[in-house]
Order: sequence, then structure tokens, then C-alpha cells
Amino acid sequence: MALPTYDEVIAKWDPVLGLEVHVELNTQSKMFCSCATEFGAEPNTQTCPVCLALPGALPVVNEKAIESTILIGLALNCKIAPYSRFARKNYFYPDMPKNFQISQYDEPICFDGYVDVEIDTEEAKLDTLLDLYGIASTTQTIIFCNTIRKIEWLEENLKKNNFPITVIHSNMTQQERDTVVKEFREGKTRLLLTTDLLSRGIDIPQVNMVINYDLPVNKETYIHRIGRCGRFDKKGVSITMVRMKDPADAKTLFRMKQFYKIQINEMPSDLNQFL
Ligand SMILES: [Zn+2]
Repeated sequence: MALPTYDEVIAKWDPVLGLEVHVELNTQSKMFCSCATEFGAEPNTQTCPVCLALPGALPVVNEKAIESTILIGLALNCKIAPYSRFARKNYFYPDMPKNFQISQYDEPICFDGYVDVEIDTEEAKLDTLLDLYGIASTTQTIIFCNTIRKIEWLEENLKKNNFPITVIHSNMTQQERDTVVKEFREGKTRLLLTTDLLSRGIDIPQVNMVINYDLPVNKETYIHRIGRCGRFDKKGVSITMVRMKDPADAKTLFRMKQFYKIQINEMPSDLNQFL
């Protein structure tokens, strides 16, 4: 069997990397006993029945370490569990048969965190969208973002620039969403900012423009989104903001074109002729 090429592999699979990171906390004592952690002490002087794992010893967790863990969790936008559980796992090594490890397995203290990595081209996208204002304001337009965080950020920035925008996302109640969609459908509002909540299923005939502020991560979503405009044999325009300097965006665009065998052109300057 011939090896697939790099492009074939990238078109089919996403590389997903996991990182295991170890942190040493600056506590005065060890994690599960009151022995000191002073650097440079004589060997075997900072030990006790607990950290020697003698039979019957009962480890007790270091409160200060838990506090530090929660602080790190909050800094990483994690949710903090109201309770947690440590599991004791034994590993048999011929030279150290009593070895064990105490760790958190499925009930960690901090979970669902994230770190935003800002890349400079993100700012340029906002400027581009503001430049599109003249065109967007004469049409009925849906603007898609990938995350609620991005929606909230964009809403704030568009409102700062007097962009009359309405918003729906999954953190709103169904009633709130229905009201926003109803007003948009009736033409009372012209610009709707949303996550993929709206990318399928809702037909609003007068929508003639879709803007993908974020390039959708998967190819099906792209088709669902752009299908929101030009319903019922009407003409529609979809504009997708792609950061060509960002390898992830460039790759997604490449996969989309290859999979659907479609041409996605650079935006022409005289966009109005398509509307
Ligand atoms: Zn100890």
C-alpha cells in the first residue's frame, strides 16, 4: 500500500495533541503529610510513615495546595468542582513493590478551562467587518461566529462602533431567542449575530447575505451556514473571513474546497453587483 501524501492525511484527519504538564507548588509541606519540602536537606530526613507509605498510614491532603490549585483553575477559566476525589493507584516495580500514586482521575478540582490565544490578524477581521458595514446595512445579514465568547466580544465591539446588531446564542432562553428571530424575520432588524444554533433549520427568505466571521471548523457547518442565504431561488452572497496567515484557517479552507470541489473566490471589490 502506498503511503498517503501529507495533503491527503490533513484532508482526512485532525491532529490532536495532549500535553501533560507538571507543576511544583510553593507549599511549606508535602502534598499528603506535614513533612517539610525544604530543598537541599539531608536524605531521608524529611519523611514520615505517610510519605514512606508504611502500612496503615493515612494521607491527608494539603489545604494550601488545594487553594493554589483552585487559584490556577480560576486563572485558566476552569469551573471549580464543589468536591473532588483522590484515587490511590498501585504500580508494581520489582525493586519497589509498595509504590503507589495518589491522583485525581475522573473528578478533578478544576475542569473545562481554556486559554485564549490572541493572534494579531483577529483585529484585522473586525476592521474588515466594519468596512462591510455599508453593504451589510442594506441587506438582511446573518453573521456567524464559532463560540459564544466570540459572539459576546464581537457584539460589544460592533455596538461600540454603532453597528445595530441583534444577537442569539444558546445561553439565552428559548423565549428571548424566539423574540430576536421573530423581529429579524419581520425585517425590524437587519443584522443577526449568532453561533451555529441557527446554521440549519431556520428559513428566512429575505436573508441575502451570510458572513462567516469565523471560518467554521467542519465542512458540513460551512454548507449549512451559507445555505441560510439565497433561499427559495433568490440570490445570496456569502463572505467568509479567512486569516490566510493562520495555518489552521488556511488548512480548513483548503479542505473545504477540496471536499466540495467548489471554487471560493477572493472577495471582489464591487460586491453590490451580486446582491
Ligand atoms: Zn511525610
